Amino acid sequence: MRLRASKHLRDLSNDTDFSRAKLIQPLFVGEGLKDDLEIPALRGTFRQSIDGVLKQVEKDLEAGVSQFLLFEVPSKKSERDFDLAFSEKAIHAIKSRFGQDLFLWLDTCLCSLTSHGHCCVFNELGQIDLDETLPEISRLAAHYAAAGADGIAPSDMMDGRVAAIRESLDDGGFDQTPIMSYSTKFASNLYGPFRVAADSSPKHGDRKGYQIDVRNRLDAIESSIRCSNEGADLLMVKPGMTSIDLIREIEEKTGKRVGAYQVSGEFASLVLLSEKGLTKFEDAVQESWHVFRRAGAAFIITYGARFAKAWGYPS
Ligand SMILES: [Zn+2]
Repeated sequence: MRLRASKHLRDLSNDTDFSRAKLIQPLFVGEGLKDDLEIPALRGTFRQSIDGVLKQVEKDLEAGVSQFLLFEVPSKKSERDFDLAFSEKAIHAIKSRFGQDLFLWLDTCLCSLTSHGHCCVFNELGQIDLDETLPEISRLAAHYAAAGADGIAPSDMMDGRVAAIRESLDDGGFDQTPIMSYSTKFASNLYGPFRVAADSSPKHGDRKGYQIDVRNRLDAIESSIRCSNEGADLLMVKPGMTSIDLIREIEEKTGKRVGAYQVSGEFASLVLLSEKGLTKFEDAVQESWHVFRRAGAAFIITYGARFAKAWGYPS
C-alpha cells in the first residue's frame, strides 16, 4: 500500500510505461469514395479515399503516430485473379508523399477482394482451396511490397501462408520486408465495427472454418508457433483483450515478440460506455493499453494510437 500512496510513488514503481512507438494505427482506404465514411462507434476512424487518407496521415503524423496498418477496400471483387490496381495506387500515394516518416504495414488478406467476402479461394465444391489461395495471398504480399509497403501483415489464418509469403517476398527481392503475422486470431464476436470499415463481411457462412475456436488454448498457441516456424518476424493475438492469457506463453515458446490487436469491438465498447457517461474514454483506453503491456504485449494495434500524444505518451 505504501507505494500506492502518491502519484510520485505510483509513477516510480509502475512497470508498464511505454511510448507511442509501440502503437500502430489502422487506416482504411476505399475505392470510389467521395466523402469520408465514419465507422460506427470507432471514434475518429473513417473509411477514406486516397486523398482522404493522405490528409489523415498528415494529421496523424502531427499527432505523433509513426506506425500504420493499412486496410485496402477496393470496389472490384472477384473469385480469383484479383485486380490490384487500386491498392498499388493507394500505397504508392502514401509512401511517395511521406517516405520514411512512417512505417506502413499492409493488412494482407483476400476478404476485401473476394466477391464472397471470405479470406480464401474456394474450389467447385465450396471448400477452401489452399493450392489456389496461397499463391494469391503471396502474390498480394509481393505486390504490396513492390508498391512500397514497409511490412506485410497476413490476417487470413490459412495454413502455410507465412511460408508462402516469405518465399514470394524473397523471390521478389524483398528479403528485408518483415512479416507481422496475425498468428493467433480467433473467430470472435468483437469484429463488428471493423467489418463496416473494411466492407469485409462474408456473404455466406462465417469464418469459423479457419479462425480459431475461442475455447481452444492449445490450438491458439500452436497457431502462433506454426507462424513463427514459417518465418514470421512478429506475432500477434486477436482480439487482444480476450487473448491476454496467451501472450507470454507464445513469447516463451517462440522467442518472438507478440503484439495485441485491440479490435474494433473492444475499442468501440469503451467509446459506447463513455458516450453513456459510464466511463471516461481516455482513462479507459489507457487502462486497456497498460493491461496489454502488463500481459507482455510488445506492441498494440489500436484505433486510439492517434490520441496518445495528446494523452502525454512520449515518442
Ligand atoms: Zn480476411
